[in-house]
Amino acid sequence: MTLLPYARRGFHYNNYKYYLEDRFGERVQRVSIEGGFTCPNRDGTLGKGGCIYCNSDSFSPPYSDSKFPIHEQLTEGIRFLHGRFRANKFIAYFQNYTNTYAPLNKLEKMYREALEHPQVVGLAVSTRPDCIDENILALLKDISADYDVNLELGLESLRDVSLTWMNRCHSVETSRKALKMVSKYDLDVTAHMILGLPTESKEEMFEMAKELNELPLKFLKLHHLQVIKDTRLALLYEKENFPVFEYLEYLEFIAKYITLLRPQLVLQRVITSSPDEYLIAPKWPHTTTAFIMSLQKYMRDNNMYQGDEFSNP
Ligand code: SF4
Repeated sequence: MTLLPYARRGFHYNNYKYYLEDRFGERVQRVSIEGGFTCPNRDGTLGKGGCIYCNSDSFSPPYSDSKFPIHEQLTEGIRFLHGRFRANKFIAYFQNYTNTYAPLNKLEKMYREALEHPQVVGLAVSTRPDCIDENILALLKDISADYDVNLELGLESLRDVSLTWMNRCHSVETSRKALKMVSKYDLDVTAHMILGLPTESKEEMFEMAKELNELPLKFLKLHHLQVIKDTRLALLYEKENFPVFEYLEYLEFIAKYITLLRPQLVLQRVITSSPDEYLIAPKWPHTTTAFIMSLQKYMRDNNMYQGDEFSNP
């Protein structure tokens, strides 16, 4: 077993929760903020339909709504998350749509407004790999002198055939170039990946896990593919009924996937869960919490750890 600094309390992989606990000395929660952005894959710049799976309503918590000023969203979100998790420190998370898709002065104003809240200790910004530039990265670097900054890039897949299928309107080459540009700024970068696309076999996904190891990433956010209402994916699923991960199948798959990852990577997520009213498939019999507990048990019973199958190229 390799040394995994944030694998604790039954986890056999580096868990972001414990990374944050070590970094800040206490529990830290992310609080989502809706900045009122759109996306070049929706406003016609690149496309109009958006990514095939995208329905951002399905992952917006109730307190996050661009109708309200950022400080109000934060106050409400923090009140809710403090009540639920007893957390006192928070990361302002610009999550929905493309959170770098605005003029630089507007971005700076929004990010800094969020950071003014006395309980906010960091900033997380989710975006597309084709929506960053040197000026935005310089701004994030400047902010990172005083706050934790996490740039989350939606890579989704490292195969062009899959990006085309998803209508991402960017290529793998774009993602690689973005990562190369980001690496000059020494920022903490997350790759967001979707697992279970019908364009990819399990072997190909395992191959991509190995490719991720070679990219300049600190965090990974892994999601299994979900079919959400009011998306083009929902229409396609109705027509083609392509296979999606079954519960146990994903559990065994993700355990093996984790063993392939280099031991320095920290996992922010290994599963996603959309609200029942939005979710078409897969409908799993247990909650996310139950899944994580089962994953812990499965990895423990099979003596599996992150990095077990990692080898330096
Ligand atoms: S998933 Fe992101 S990039 Fe794709 S359409 Fe939705 S907001 Fe735009």
